[in-house]
Amino acid sequence: MSPSNWPRHRGAAACLITSVACALVLLAGCAAPGPYGRPGELSPRLGDEIVVAGQFFHTGTPVVLWLDPGGYDAYRAECKFDPNQLRPSKPVSDAPIRYSTFRRGLPEDVAARVREEGWDLSTLQAHVDQFVYHYDVCGTSRKCFDVLHDRRGLSVHFMLDLDGTIYQTLDAKERAWHAGQANDRSVGIEIANIGAYRDMKVLDQWYGQDDAGRTIVTLPADFGPTGIRTPNFVARPSREGVVEGVIHGRTLYQYDLTDEQYDALIRLTATLCQALPGIRPDAPRDAAGNVRMDELSDQELAEFSGLLGHYHITKDKVDPGPAFDWERVIAGVRKLLRP
Ligand SMILES: [Zn+2]
Repeated sequence: MSPSNWPRHRGAAACLITSVACALVLLAGCAAPGPYGRPGELSPRLGDEIVVAGQFFHTGTPVVLWLDPGGYDAYRAECKFDPNQLRPSKPVSDAPIRYSTFRRGLPEDVAARVREEGWDLSTLQAHVDQFVYHYDVCGTSRKCFDVLHDRRGLSVHFMLDLDGTIYQTLDAKERAWHAGQANDRSVGIEIANIGAYRDMKVLDQWYGQDDAGRTIVTLPADFGPTGIRTPNFVARPSREGVVEGVIHGRTLYQYDLTDEQYDALIRLTATLCQALPGIRPDAPRDAAGNVRMDELSDQELAEFSGLLGHYHITKDKVDPGPAFDWERVIAGVRKLLRP
């Protein structure tokens, strides 16, 4: 090898090294694109996620988001079941909206930041600490959205259908219009159930018996499409027979939720207790340790963080009703939250 060859050889070697390095970089580029996926790559969902301040949280049970086919979108201005109709038929607001982006009661500097930048998860966690249970007096989630969104101009974060399907209609960060004075600090759910009554008139129309003599939900003949996702689903109250109980001192009758609803509600509640840890897995209790069956005073409500029935917030309401099994839900949630 003559000295005159050195530069050429060195040049070739350098070129080879550079080529290998380039190939490695390219390979590395393919295999490890950094924190993001590749453009156009599908980011799969499992179908059990809820959305809290833009973050996905698994629940372990089926969830249909407002983004999904078959979902119920509370952000839409036009009515779902009559798209030519922009405004609710019985609106509570002059504007064709059913929720607020802003939750009141924040410290001034935090409020200014949220107005400017929107909610982030930790800010929402510091503010939202109540989960309010309702029954929908509609019977199914499809009918509930029709009444709540299209007709009344209201909203709720979640709906729970007879077969245990959870529908999320907007991000938990939004201030949904479902529980009056509790809207600023709470997330809410409407549970499909026709409700509690002083007599059996309505209940006799909505419940019957199967061939084996067991109680089942029998939707009225003129009910129309049910929207229930599970084909041929037969809804059975978890407890056989009507449940009698007292709320606000009034004796009421109601059929229980389905087992599918309890299972899904427990998973959703546990998920929210994790995502928004200000929500404690307990309901208001009296001195004897029993879940209260009356409304809280303004001060008690202000000091309470956890699970509420609508009736705890206002004396005008009795939902989720006397059949709602608080201890089953709370015990189930606590079991799931155990490390
Ligand atoms: Zn309610």
